[in-house]
Amino acid sequence: MKTMTCKSLGGPCEQKLSAGSWDEMVQTMTKHVMEKHPETAKAMEKMHNEDPKRWGRETKPKWEATPET
Ligand SMILES: [Zn+2]
Repeated sequence: MKTMTCKSLGGPCEQKLSAGSWDEMVQTMTKHVMEKHPETAKAMEKMHNEDPKRWGRETKPKWEATPET
């Protein structure tokens, strides 16, 4: 398991999110922003439509740098 904050994943709050894999973290974060930050979800969707790989490119290295717990 790795734990990252919403903020380190590009979101606006400090909530901790845990996942066992990168794919799971993407899903967890997506669900979190859709529930808690509709504006961020919209901005992320727009970013995804413009460049689908950008969020992963910017965020996955942080995931990889996070130690396993
Ligand atoms: Zn959040």
